Amino acid sequence: MSDLPGKTPLTRLPDGTVKQIGPLTGTRVWTVPGRANRPLAAPRAEPRPLSPGEATRLCAFCEDRYLETTPEKSRLVGPDFAEVRAVPASELFDTRAEFRRFGNLFEIVSAEYWRENHGFRQPASVVAWARDYLQDPAGRRHIERLAVERAGASGFTQSVEEAALDLIGGSHDVVVARRHVVDGATSDDELVSSGALTPREHAEYFAFTVRTLDEIAKRQPHAAYVAVFQNWLRPAGASFEHLHKQLVAIDEHGPQVDHELRLLAGDRRLYQHAIADLAAQHGLVVAANESAVVFAGVGHRYPAFEVYSRSTANLPQEHSADEVRAMSDLVHALHAATGIHVPTNEEWHYRPPGAQWPMPWRIVLKWRISNPAGFEGGTKVYVNTIDPWELRRRAVAELSRLRASGALADGIRIGDECLPEDAQLGYAD
Ligand SMILES: [Zn+2]
Repeated sequence: MSDLPGKTPLTRLPDGTVKQIGPLTGTRVWTVPGRANRPLAAPRAEPRPLSPGEATRLCAFCEDRYLETTPEKSRLVGPDFAEVRAVPASELFDTRAEFRRFGNLFEIVSAEYWRENHGFRQPASVVAWARDYLQDPAGRRHIERLAVERAGASGFTQSVEEAALDLIGGSHDVVVARRHVVDGATSDDELVSSGALTPREHAEYFAFTVRTLDEIAKRQPHAAYVAVFQNWLRPAGASFEHLHKQLVAIDEHGPQVDHELRLLAGDRRLYQHAIADLAAQHGLVVAANESAVVFAGVGHRYPAFEVYSRSTANLPQEHSADEVRAMSDLVHALHAATGIHVPTNEEWHYRPPGAQWPMPWRIVLKWRISNPAGFEGGTKVYVNTIDPWELRRRAVAELSRLRASGALADGIRIGDECLPEDAQLGYAD
């Protein structure tokens, strides 16, 4: 690492300005003094009182509106979160889903994309399921209605049989939580974010997402990668203020991974050296548990936490159940510390299965509290109102408060409780 001024990843100038350079991206970020204490997010301007029964039908992801989403691939039910697959339309309301998985009605990468560009044909199991779904009269009505909605948006019509195959066999899935607002909510701003789930609920949501990732990857042979992300609130890109994650199969993994693979060719322990050692050196370790660790990220356009798995595994689906739970517990804790009214992006990163170098599973949680504007567009220097030290300070204080109140999973070390070995990553071992 060079010591030339302006080239180190993290520099505090005499006036207090903090200049950062993203170790993996080269992104230039400044934090200028005097702007850090602005509040993160004002509560919503006008919370609206809820009428009786409205809490469960606020949006198309709500539990009274199961038929407004595409055929359900899977749901988790009951106190044990038992998985029930391919529920027929006529039985959707027989049980209550704690979490549901279904295809995105408006896919980023569509079933047609895989069919037309890659010659992908649905496997016999999907063809049979689509046929069975249409044999149920409620299923046929369901597909007919969705096909009209899709045709209205896309401008081209399909037969009901084609629509059923695309809706069931797509590779862009949504995983949705049961509650839009807390049970007993009286106004529409009492939202359920990831951090408002219990640690157990979050762990089930998280493990369900990992299983979905594994399944999409296996079922779409032309996929180079499956992108996993969660947009929370409209400023972060969410269409609904109802907690959900998305998984999208894509046929290339994108330029940032290419860049990291080039760096990895010269240093397999890139993430240890450029990220973990940097965080330890500058006092930016936020929290840790048995097999994961959180750093206050350097060189992000928005205040960002980086949650790294310390496992020797690379892909999420290759982690043990305990290792997945460790990641879940830290991600949950950060969401809880963030609060429900702060827009966030949660982005999962892991080694593309076809890549030749080891990469850790890491999850970046960004606070979308500012909008890059003309200054950023003109200079490619991004102004981030909270520097990594301040981000860590805020998080450590809030995590400590939450842990004392019993809101976090067990086994989380916070701030200075973290051990030197917590910053040791295992992905390249
Ligand atoms: Zn909803």
